[in-house]
Amino acid sequence: MNVYDSEVIASMLLEDGYGAVSSPEDADVILVNTCSVREHAENRAIGRLADLTRYRDAVLAVCGCMAQRMGERLFQLVPDVHVISGTDSYDRLPDIVGQALETGGRYTLLEKNDCITYSLRPIASHCSATRYLSITRGCENYCSYCIVPFLRGSVRSKDPRTILREVGSMGSAGAKEVTLLGQNVMAYRAGKINFPGLIEKIINGSDIPRLRFLTSHPRDIRFEIFDLMAREKRVCPHIHLPLQSGSNRILRLMNRGYTRRQYLDIVRRARETVPDLAITTDIIVGFPSETESDYHDTVDLVEKVRFDAAFTFKYSPREGTAAASMDDDVPTAVKKERLHDLNETIGEIRREVLREQLGSETEIVLDGSVQKREYHFWKGRSPHFRNVLISGNHVREGDIVRVRLRELRNFTFIGEELVRR
Ligand code: SAH
Ligand code: SF4
Repeated sequence: MNVYDSEVIASMLLEDGYGAVSSPEDADVILVNTCSVREHAENRAIGRLADLTRYRDAVLAVCGCMAQRMGERLFQLVPDVHVISGTDSYDRLPDIVGQALETGGRYTLLEKNDCITYSLRPIASHCSATRYLSITRGCENYCSYCIVPFLRGSVRSKDPRTILREVGSMGSAGAKEVTLLGQNVMAYRAGKINFPGLIEKIINGSDIPRLRFLTSHPRDIRFEIFDLMAREKRVCPHIHLPLQSGSNRILRLMNRGYTRRQYLDIVRRARETVPDLAITTDIIVGFPSETESDYHDTVDLVEKVRFDAAFTFKYSPREGTAAASMDDDVPTAVKKERLHDLNETIGEIRREVLREQLGSETEIVLDGSVQKREYHFWKGRSPHFRNVLISGNHVREGDIVRVRLRELRNFTFIGEELVRR
């Protein structure tokens, strides 16, 4: 989401006459976009900001959730910051940054605005083959551990025409795959148009070769989406379905609104419709009061579902959330151990799932290149969100290449090029 927000901010600044530079030494303005989901993310952002104060001639601006959450406290933590901008004020940033450049003074933009949605300015600021596009902002689910609803405000859905226009301009700039973003895309609603309706609109109204979306809350899942995947090749057979925990007791404490059985039912029904569906997830270990037996319920569910990949986190208390008033009683060492053990299990399963694909064919969108010792590889992404490397000098970013999956190195395939378009 912050990748998209950063692009929005960049496109506003470009429109205002600024240009991008490739290193901070050359910058008049440095903006750092931040996340507050875990304390670790905030600590890293503060470290980065402190480091950037070396560039004394530049205006240093902090945006994003950490700016919204900490507000003026950031001036104490990093005294050389000039601008602090929360998540609802980006349209005023070019103006305020201009003032900071002129006066060298300090400015804050922290007003909340529960109506604002942003869209990319038509000016081309980016041209990569895989892009992100926010279709909703905010969240009202109040999962007990999560800071997002407090910082990003209530849910608002972007107008479908704006979304179509953005998809169109991303396509014209060379995008081959667009990932639609929302804290819970399943909650998208604009007038009579719900999320599956929006996908259909984009498929019919654009020629973007691939669409994907992130994140789907299990409680609000719309099964029509799997019918669409089965019917329409341009909708990628991949869903990010955050589990968080496999224990019913912990799920209840987390206020997630589903049970392990309901989660498993969704997975079963989805796979009945899309047999080769790739499912990825997020999991938290060490939530307050999580016992060994709760943790084993999570491992058990991981083994049952067989995820393609998972992001795993140690629980991190966030000030003001419901869970912050619960006793954070799982010792750090135990959280670490569970995280390590869970990652081992996920890794083993992931390797098995990927190995089953060896020898099969798929299509990849080339979205970058990597140099490994003396070899130069192109990096591509399959519809199932799997990474594939191919070698070749005649291809370029944005090419869609049909490949056979020949080899698996760690979690990355080495592919053999069959056809290019
Ligand atoms: N809207 C998305 C989540 C966005 S935050 C959803 O509902 O799935 C991304 C992930 O960060 C979450 O899925 C969760 O696994 C993790 N996360 C959020 N708050 C956390 C916290 N306080 N401690 C640890 N992990 C957290
Ligand atoms: Fe946070 Fe839950 Fe909203 Fe996701 S759905 S952003 S985890 S409150």
